[in-house]
Amino acid sequence: MNNFARPIIGVSKCLEFDMCRYDGSRINNNFVRNMKEYVDFITVCPEVGIGLGSPRKPIRLVTIGGKKNLYQPSSEKNLTEDMHDFTKKFVTSNANLDGFIFKRDSPTCGVTDVRLYHKLGTDVGYGKTSGMFSEGVLKQFPNLVKEDEKRLNNISIRETFLTRIFVLAHLRESLEFKELEKLNQFHSKNMLLFLCHDEELTVKLGLILKSNDDFELIADNYKNIVNSILSSIPKKSSIINTFNYIFTPVSSKLSSSEKSYYFSLIDGFDNDLISQSEISTLLYSWTLRYDLKSIVDQSLFNPFPKTLLLDLIESKKEYSIL
Ligand code: SF4
Repeated sequence: MNNFARPIIGVSKCLEFDMCRYDGSRINNNFVRNMKEYVDFITVCPEVGIGLGSPRKPIRLVTIGGKKNLYQPSSEKNLTEDMHDFTKKFVTSNANLDGFIFKRDSPTCGVTDVRLYHKLGTDVGYGKTSGMFSEGVLKQFPNLVKEDEKRLNNISIRETFLTRIFVLAHLRESLEFKELEKLNQFHSKNMLLFLCHDEELTVKLGLILKSNDDFELIADNYKNIVNSILSSIPKKSSIINTFNYIFTPVSSKLSSSEKSYYFSLIDGFDNDLISQSEISTLLYSWTLRYDLKSIVDQSLFNPFPKTLLLDLIESKKEYSIL
């Protein structure tokens, strides 16, 4: 068992769940399969949702009258309105999503780089766009943590995705109590992780919690800033400052050689020779050894279930982003 909040994640249903692709197939996805233990999935196949069966004739995105349309060449059906209606209903009934995993390259679910044909009736000439369903979902939820399935085979992209969805799920669950105390507990647990991303915004979060506003306003302001913090890439200087903040209370208990080792790692990290996790692991072991209760439970050390990286570590699979 674990103490992680359960993220609510939308997923293209053909990934691991259902044989709903145009050719009647399903795509095996180890990551999605492993996530089932820790995540509540909302599965959706928009093409089946608008009444296309499986298997079915392929559909594509085509520019007609200057606008993007979803079209089935074999039946000459324009499916644009049906897909817009389906997307509207989906977003209305799923406003509590923490994230979404989309199938790549689909005219419906693809996030980027989906073919948009310039003309009806020809395969010649196309640009790149996003799928019609994914575009509608992301327009409605601009802060939604989203990835396409293939990018999640890159370990750092996956770590970022997992960190964001598990922290946001924890925030969602904390806000459900509508108690400032629960929000303060959330803040304490995630403070060092936030400091690694953005020190200024983390200070702002602390000030929001001390304001005299009513809870709803505090919750809205707090959530907006957490979204900004988590969508920013951690700054190296902020990470080093945070590590030094953790190091300070243990330093008096360490030998001089342990201290110099720590500073050599920081130097290596500053010069891109050492990974962040190497220093984090060392600091975590010291906080355990010296029983620093306020630090040891920080989400920075354990933001998501580590088993969700196992398939990548075992296969040493690394997707290179072009
Ligand atoms: S990519 Fe989307 S629309 Fe296509 S089969 Fe998968 S879930 Fe259905």
